[in-house]
Amino acid sequence: MDPVEKLRRLGPATCYEPAEEVSAAGRPLSAPVGLPADLSGFIHYAAMPGGRRIALLKTLLTSACERDCFYCAFRAGRDCPRATFTPDELARLFLQLHQRGIAEGLFLSSSILGGGPHTQDRLIATAEILRHRYGFRGYIHLKIMPGAERDQVAAAMRLADRVSVNLEAPNDRRLAALAPHKQFTDELLRRLRWIEELRREMPGPAPSSTTQFVVGAAGESDLELLHVTAFLYRHLGLARAYFQAFRPVPGTPLEAHPLTPPQREHRLYQASFLLRDYGFSVEELPFQPDGNLPLDTDPKLAWAREHLAEAPVEVNRAGRETLLRVPGIGPQGADRLIAARRRGRLRDLKDLRALGIAAERAAPFILLDGRRPARQLPLF
Ligand code: SF4
Repeated sequence: MDPVEKLRRLGPATCYEPAEEVSAAGRPLSAPVGLPADLSGFIHYAAMPGGRRIALLKTLLTSACERDCFYCAFRAGRDCPRATFTPDELARLFLQLHQRGIAEGLFLSSSILGGGPHTQDRLIATAEILRHRYGFRGYIHLKIMPGAERDQVAAAMRLADRVSVNLEAPNDRRLAALAPHKQFTDELLRRLRWIEELRREMPGPAPSSTTQFVVGAAGESDLELLHVTAFLYRHLGLARAYFQAFRPVPGTPLEAHPLTPPQREHRLYQASFLLRDYGFSVEELPFQPDGNLPLDTDPKLAWAREHLAEAPVEVNRAGRETLLRVPGIGPQGADRLIAARRRGRLRDLKDLRALGIAAERAAPFILLDGRRPARQLPLF
């Protein structure tokens, strides 16, 4: 089969593989321009640390799977077109795309065929061919398979810039409702622990790690998802958790399960950034009694309305930690604000605007030189 035809068959399999193609605000980044139509579904822009964006070929090594996850288009026994690359084939195809300027990096995952360790060997072999035979020095993201061995995780980490383990659900019980033959602790979470241990042992720069969750198909709450996310950020050095709103796939056991509103995914991203970058704890997030975040309110805004509306923050004095609690002030804005204070007092919303801060969002929760900022109230 022609390699591009194989890609076409494998492409939809990555629908639950979010890679890095989501902006910090949780919105998808725009598709690359000028791509051959055949490939536009497989090339995604990925945001790199430092803000650079690169075109990433995102694919599976095979879509033939022996597992039967309830939500997955490529579960065993489902009637669908499948394809398998050999490591050689995929490495060659990627190299051609790279040489034509179509793909700068590779995101490589796989269905499970012949067991997790065997599949992991094939992923590693693909990356080895690219690195050692073809001398490719660009970005590679490798998936760590359920059940991969510790030596394989180490080998993948020597080859990749980023590795990831899909937890899919926040705990064993929820995972059983999604993927009956995946074991949360033994097959998945343990690999994330190994990654963190190996990262500490590695001389020089070590790859970052991520995970992803399927949201809304296992009855899990946002509280459960964010609880494990906070643990992963704090204890296992996770760079990022990805959240994928569940979409039912025809011909799977969950085909009649309702679609998860995309807004839930968006709120989870916002909350996870509060945990990772803003010093929030899970307990501080504004959960409803059912353990979910309100869909209609930004969680940081909801927190500020409760805690800062009557106790505004004096931006000329507050520490970075406190500034980060104010809606409209992010990590970069807080740093710029602190630097600007050294040059003089901030007295007006326009002083904040000049620093790139969303001053109108911040205004109800701040004092400028002891005074509530004058602002135009919305008409409605
Ligand atoms: S392991 Fe599960 S999620 Fe992954 S391809 Fe197989 S059935 Fe789909």
